[in-house]
Amino acid sequence: MQRALTDLSNDAIDALVSECGGKPFQARQVLHWLWKHGADSFEQMRNVPTALRAALAREHVVRHATINKVDDAEDGTQKLLLRLRDNETVECVIIPDEERTTLCISTQVGCPVACVFCASGMFGVRRNLTAGEIAEQVLLAQSQLRPNRRLTNLVVMGMGEPMLNLDGLLPALARIHDADGIGMGARRITVSTSGFPRQMERFAAADPSYNLAVSLHAGDDELRKRLVPTATSPVRDIIAAAHRYFGQKGREVTYEVVLLEGVNDRPDDAVSLVNALGSLPCTVNLIPWNPVEEIVAQKGLRRPSVVRIDSFADSLRGGGLKVTVRRQRGADRSAACGQLRLRALDAASS
Ligand code: SAH
Ligand code: SF4
Repeated sequence: MQRALTDLSNDAIDALVSECGGKPFQARQVLHWLWKHGADSFEQMRNVPTALRAALAREHVVRHATINKVDDAEDGTQKLLLRLRDNETVECVIIPDEERTTLCISTQVGCPVACVFCASGMFGVRRNLTAGEIAEQVLLAQSQLRPNRRLTNLVVMGMGEPMLNLDGLLPALARIHDADGIGMGARRITVSTSGFPRQMERFAAADPSYNLAVSLHAGDDELRKRLVPTATSPVRDIIAAAHRYFGQKGREVTYEVVLLEGVNDRPDDAVSLVNALGSLPCTVNLIPWNPVEEIVAQKGLRRPSVVRIDSFADSLRGGGLKVTVRRQRGADRSAACGQLRLRALDAASS
């Protein structure tokens, strides 16, 4: 399969253009078309000579992915189902707010972590996304933005476990962040992990400093193991790695807790979270579970009522923690990441 330009670093694009007989300024033009104008074909690169475009096209395409389907929710959320060149599919979601427009992107086709409540993990992982496939989601989303909107924030909270694909994620974020790439500030980029301490160390070593969110879900090991069955690291080690990240980067970590009624929203569960996080500088983001039909049917999980969520939040605050509660978005469609792909797989197999 031909490689895509989005998979190449800036230096590799320089080298390629030179091999094809082009000059350094033409490499910059190609980079500009790719990342600033969002060109998806060589034909669009109008100021690049035809012979150079033809030479580049011999062994390369511009991008990997195309938009297969756009699902518009009433609140303005747009969910994009993307088709990759091997016919696999992934999702990304545009979430507009008053002053912000956030894009949620995926890092793997499926996910190997298999959290009990998550649609992305239901069928394991098919493969890692390449750096180009990760970065392209930003370009494709930009092409769908409503007038006068631009992407202000990026969250790596779509399908897949980012720490298990750092070889794809780190170069992708570099291209998204780079001034010669898409040029998005690192402070506007947040990566969420279900907790892999060793990989978090490697993520911490990367320059620049992105924000880190840790999907903790429970403060004690036994309950966490029920929710995240494949995670082998103790809660203590995950929190220690996140705290080291804070120490190195000076970025406060957010802990996410997907709330499931009667499973991890009981008074004792609030106590164990308070005990685990103690007086660490952090914020706990409570995420009311977004029901996934198949999971409701198989496991009987439920989203807690607003009253239960508020009382859980109050218990955490009473224990000295900073708490936010995530507002439901795109709830009129398959809102949780992984669900659009699930529907598409269903449709393909029926
Ligand atoms: N694998 C990473 C990032 C992708 S999941 C992680 O787990 O952090 C991003 C967030 O969505 C995680 O906090 C995850 O727990 C949450 N999530 C997954 N399925 C959900 C659902 N059905 N409803 C609400 N949140 C969900
Ligand atoms: Fe994977 Fe995150 Fe879903 Fe867990 S919540 S299965 S880690 S995508």
